Amino acid sequence: MTSKLSPPANEASSGLAPDVLDDFKALIGEQHCLTEPADIAPYCREWRNKFFGICPLVLRPGNTDEVSAIMTLAYARNVAIVPQGGNTGLVGGQITDQSNAQVIVSLERLKRIRSLDIEGNVAVVEAGVVLETVQKAAEEADRFFPLALGAQGSCQIGGNLSTNAGGTSVLAYGNARDMVLGLEVVLPDGRIMRGLRSLRKDNTGYDLKHLFIGAEGTLGIITAASLKLYPLPRDRQVALAGIETPRDALRIFNIARSRVGSMLTGFELMPRIGMEFAVRHLEGARDPLVEAHPWYCLLELSIGSDAINGRELMETMLEEAFDADLIRDAVLAENTRQMQDIWHIRHGLSEVQKEEGGSIKHDISVPTHAIPDFLDRAIPACLEAIPGCRPVAFGHLGDGNLHFNISQPIGADRDAFLNRWEEINAMVHAIVADLEGSISAEHGIGVLKRDLLPGVKDPVELELMHQIKTLLDPKGLMNPGKVLQ
Ligand code: FAD
Repeated sequence: MTSKLSPPANEASSGLAPDVLDDFKALIGEQHCLTEPADIAPYCREWRNKFFGICPLVLRPGNTDEVSAIMTLAYARNVAIVPQGGNTGLVGGQITDQSNAQVIVSLERLKRIRSLDIEGNVAVVEAGVVLETVQKAAEEADRFFPLALGAQGSCQIGGNLSTNAGGTSVLAYGNARDMVLGLEVVLPDGRIMRGLRSLRKDNTGYDLKHLFIGAEGTLGIITAASLKLYPLPRDRQVALAGIETPRDALRIFNIARSRVGSMLTGFELMPRIGMEFAVRHLEGARDPLVEAHPWYCLLELSIGSDAINGRELMETMLEEAFDADLIRDAVLAENTRQMQDIWHIRHGLSEVQKEEGGSIKHDISVPTHAIPDFLDRAIPACLEAIPGCRPVAFGHLGDGNLHFNISQPIGADRDAFLNRWEEINAMVHAIVADLEGSISAEHGIGVLKRDLLPGVKDPVELELMHQIKTLLDPKGLMNPGKVLQ
């Protein structure tokens, strides 16, 4: 079902008419049009080497008007466009197909922070600004931009919004969608939708920005966004607890929620094998606890007031969990460095699995209370299907979202293992369906899960999605073959 592609064996001839290439060059300048295979190559493969595209041209516009000019020309000349941000997406949405006819529009030169309104708590940033840059700019202004994920040093705001990224702060602040006040979008025919409002309240009809958030570049190109800023927490506390089971983690989560409410800004679950992978492969990582534990949970509190003693709060919470026999051991970060070290392990978990051979991935969500049930069923099912395989189940327990990844058995043939991707996906997704969950909690659909969508989406919802796509992109030129077939 998936459109997993192999590396191109040789270069196909360009599917783009030479005069179209010249027209694009005239629009944004030859130096911003990449045509050399060596220059194009990094845009045509994603970081896990799972999807490979072939592409005759990468366009690097410098502002919204140039994006609009590109789209106007592409529409007139029937050129398919694939928007690309930081190229960290995990479902292949940012990669072209192998026709050598689709053109990549990279947003990397749209990297201005247009304004930072401290009083109004709004930042207006262009699509190509790297997430970490937004976080730092907010912090320098004594504000907080909460979106946080492992790829934050490379992914861009336009990509984050187009995938409606989740990450580690959803618990308190919501998904990327919840942090947006307005959008500027270039439509497939080149029109610019100027919706960069900074209003907290605006009930003037359909809220169109939400169509483009999570659309994975299939409805238009996001060129800028008004983002909500939040008060910079006065104090932050991070603890790592060694625990016996995911069920205990769920109980600890509920103790934490009832004690500190929205001050609980992170609650992550990690298995022992994840800790071992991190210690083995992640630079600077070491196990913060003396003994090994079957599971770990990472707790983060963010305190907005100097009147609250965050450390005491965390200690009281952990003590309660100890007293209830839910925690075997725990460490509370003493300083920022230790906090970062603990988060470093968690954020590094996606990356370290690469070092352990093939990995069959799932990005699932179920109702939070059903996480232990899911694991109780999915782990044995995988072990039975592939004896010796190594489930690495980690993620945002507080959001009911797990990255349920299966590393190959030690010494197994990587390709033979990965050939079972669809079979294992089907088995795991059946458990997810039974628990009324989702097969894509935060990474999106792209091409990886496109053919699974009709099987999980309500038929009327799917029909409306197709109708919206046809309305906005009647020629089907906007990131074709992604999300919808
Ligand atoms: P890209 O990968 O370039 O593109 C992603 C999609 O958005 C594509 O369909 C593309 O066509 C489209 N797109 C990009 N820019 C635009 C634009 N300006 N306008 C319209 N469409 C556009 N994701 C999570 O949600 N949570 C996580 O915790 C998380 N952790 C990750 C950890 C690692 C180590 C890695 C590598 C990835 C992780 N991801 C996670 C996935 C990824 O980082 C996110 O999906 C991210 O939001 C993608 O941003 P990007 O700029 O790299 O977009």
